[in-house]
Amino acid sequence: MQNDLRGNLAAVNERIERAARKVGRNANEIKLVAVSKTHPAEVLQSAIDAGASVFGENKVQEADGKVNVLGREKIEWHLIGHLQSNKARQAAQIFDVIHTLDSIKLAERLERICLEENRASLSVLVQVDLASEATKNGIKEADLPKMIEFLDTCQHLKFDGLMIIPPYFDDVELVRPYFKRLREIRDALLPNGALSMGMSHDFETAIEEGATIVRVGTAIFGAREKIAAN
Ligand SMILES: *Cc1c(COP(=O)(O)O)cnc(C)c1O
Repeated sequence: MQNDLRGNLAAVNERIERAARKVGRNANEIKLVAVSKTHPAEVLQSAIDAGASVFGENKVQEADGKVNVLGREKIEWHLIGHLQSNKARQAAQIFDVIHTLDSIKLAERLERICLEENRASLSVLVQVDLASEATKNGIKEADLPKMIEFLDTCQHLKFDGLMIIPPYFDDVELVRPYFKRLREIRDALLPNGALSMGMSHDFETAIEEGATIVRVGTAIFGAREKIAAN
């Protein structure tokens, strides 16, 4: 699996097509983020050769090394992991989209950094925690209006949508309600906003529920080596 990136990418794109068709959607409205965390730049280069152009990374430092090798011109870099405030500047320098905005404090900091760094616009998604899991990041549904009110005042941060990492269930039908709920929230707050939801084992369900961005790692790159905190 690891060495057939082209085949894996084609298979994932085919599954995206099929899931979209099933619910009468156009696959063109769904962006595939190839989650490349833990994989070295050479592997990403192979994925680029196979047609990938959007990568998702969960650690700023790790991503920075790959951005240095592969550049930012032809590739879209998405941060999908928790952003610590002391990494915000570096993140604003290398990422095109930050999926994990999870506090007003972090939003304030990113907005200020964009000004200081002359970054005209930085796309952000707000990570929502619908499960109230103590260990998960993301803001509570009840705190969303205040967050959005703040983002409305930002000159540089561009509030583009919502993101969720639901609890893990083997049975994807148990994940579906989280996708459904996030979509309802999106419809109410930001009707044309992006919905970043769905990973290797549940992206078809996410697409059925309206995902516009799916974050797929294992199904493209194969199983990751087990290393801490990923
Ligand atoms: C690792 C990761 C993914 C991809 O997971 P796979 O199961 O390998 O597809 C998606 N989203 C986030 C936030 C991740 O950390």
